[in-house]
Amino acid sequence: MRNRGHDDAITDEHLMPLRYFGDQVLRRHAADVPDITGELVEFGRTMLVTMDHEVGIGLAAPQVGRSIRMLVHGLPEDAPPVLFNPVIVESSGESVYQEGCLSIPGLYIDVVRPSEIHLRAWDDQGNEVDLDADGMLARVVQHEMDHLDGLLFVDRISVEDRITAEAELRKRVAGTLGTSDPFLTGKAIKALLRKHA
Ligand code: ZN
Repeated sequence: MRNRGHDDAITDEHLMPLRYFGDQVLRRHAADVPDITGELVEFGRTMLVTMDHEVGIGLAAPQVGRSIRMLVHGLPEDAPPVLFNPVIVESSGESVYQEGCLSIPGLYIDVVRPSEIHLRAWDDQGNEVDLDADGMLARVVQHEMDHLDGLLFVDRISVEDRITAEAELRKRVAGTLGTSDPFLTGKAIKALLRKHA
């Protein structure tokens, strides 16, 4: 996936550090973006460069430490690559796909989600985006939009897969603030899931 051929021109100063499982910013409900400023357009570009560098296909603003409703994706043929204030108006169908997340490296687990969505958002030119998506775009947008609601893909996995994921994530955050993550304590996340069900 890292095939854009422009990596030579990119230096580390254009990249942003990722936030990982256990970081509280990943559990916040992100704020609406009131204005698409020049600074945010630039921020979107830097997010895309960071996503490419990390070999991701999607990235949400909280994953680089900003709790705002903004995401980028690597499917520019299907939709504008930077989306602000995305909303899923309607969803249907069901599909299973093995998801991974740049904030939880090395963990890949099946997640069931709607297979088709009707999406509304704004692009970085200030144009309204209003489209039907399926396949990978629908999958990526739903995963990234979960980040904006403080949800991670591990919150949506089966009971059986949870056992493995819990053990792995406990190991990773052993002795840090991350041990209080709702996935491991089982408390706050239920409320989040209920609110957005
Ligand atoms: Zn993710």
